[in-house]
Amino acid sequence: MRYLWTGVLSALCLLALVSAAAALFAGVTWGLTAFIVGVLLLLGWHVHNLIRLVMWSREPIGTPVPRAAGSWGQVFAELNRRSRVSYDMRERLSSALERFHDASQAMPDGVLYLSDSDTIEWINLKAEQHFGLDHTRDIGAPVTNLVRQPEFVHYLQAGKHDEPLIMTSGRRSGLTLQVQIIPFGDDQQMVLSRDISQLERLETMRRDFVANVSHELRTPLTVIGGFLETLVDGLDDYEREDVMRFLRLALDQSSRMGRLIDDLLTLSALETGAPAPAEEKIDVAALMQEIHEDTELLSAGRHTVTLQMEGDGVLLGSGKEIHSAFSNLASNAVRYTPEGGKIDLVWRVDAQGAEFSVRDTGIGVDPIHIPRLTERFYRVDRGRSRETGGTGLGLAIVKHILTRHQADLRVSSKQGEGSVFSVRLPPARLMALPAR
Ligand code: ADP
Repeated sequence: MRYLWTGVLSALCLLALVSAAAALFAGVTWGLTAFIVGVLLLLGWHVHNLIRLVMWSREPIGTPVPRAAGSWGQVFAELNRRSRVSYDMRERLSSALERFHDASQAMPDGVLYLSDSDTIEWINLKAEQHFGLDHTRDIGAPVTNLVRQPEFVHYLQAGKHDEPLIMTSGRRSGLTLQVQIIPFGDDQQMVLSRDISQLERLETMRRDFVANVSHELRTPLTVIGGFLETLVDGLDDYEREDVMRFLRLALDQSSRMGRLIDDLLTLSALETGAPAPAEEKIDVAALMQEIHEDTELLSAGRHTVTLQMEGDGVLLGSGKEIHSAFSNLASNAVRYTPEGGKIDLVWRVDAQGAEFSVRDTGIGVDPIHIPRLTERFYRVDRGRSRETGGTGLGLAIVKHILTRHQADLRVSSKQGEGSVFSVRLPPARLMALPAR
């Protein structure tokens, strides 16, 4: 403020001095004229600077303030400083807003802001996908006009938002959403949506698994219970031979239950936190020899079983698990190949790693079943699997073991002609592979 007063007073002093000098040397009239001209010039200068100020205030924010001399120069400098501070603040605010916007857009959950009258104020990309909305079209529209599922409308209007709502998306099939409403500000609400389809699928799988296990265990248990009941009710009515037959059948069922429980335990150990496979050095030639002998033993002369080795070497992994996976495939070939069929076990090493294949001339599988063969309890022919002592878990175990060894299973098959189950192992799992 002081500089303004100083400026005005110095201008007035100068004017008074010039006017007094004019009056002294040229007479009072000239003194008065000089004073009036001086006042008019001063006024004109002030009006000119005021106009510049008004013009500047109409320019876009951030335009530099004009320059001027004297007290106006000070005023403009002060304005310039303030305008720079407020411009910087605006910039900081808008970049913070932009960052918030970008972060909200990148969120894995959907976010939707609703006004006090439940119209959409802001929406992120995920919420657009979850609810099938479009921010360019739907901002300002009542949310219940666009998300019309009765459970959502009821949840929004009931006002009890302690528990989230689980709903299926009306716009995308197979999408299950967990929706939570959070009130904030003056009667505003935030709607958070999360895609829980994967969790729901896992939960369904878990339920199916429990139902399957219960069913698989109940069947042999019912048979065993039936035999025992028959014997308890009338042991004396049966010949010793019949009793022995019942007992043998009951024993078969109990071994089936034992196998099922063993497979379930193996699967659970593989699935739940079992440590990564030990990096044992598995001698491939010895392993193949062992699998070949086991397969011949299982076949008991009903099939021709051959072993072909195209390269050998050392495999890195868990010896027990690899043996279990390979022999599972070989035993499936025996079980699903009618008598007189041929089973070839092939080990081949190439530039992409190594491959263990089991080829059979058995009953084969319709290709539509192939993608599901490694699901737990999935069987193409339930009766045949049971007859041959299957649990429906073999290929699920194989898949787990292979995944733990970064390997994968490829199946090709033709119904009635036979199948090839191949395991592809990555080069990192192989050591010392002398070319033959
Ligand atoms: P299972 O104990 O029933 O054999 P698996 O998980 O080992 O269970 O196999 C799943 C299903 O895949 C089997 O029920 C069978 O229908 C099919 N399958 C597996 N291997 C063969 C094969 N070599 N030839 C034909 N079908 C097979």
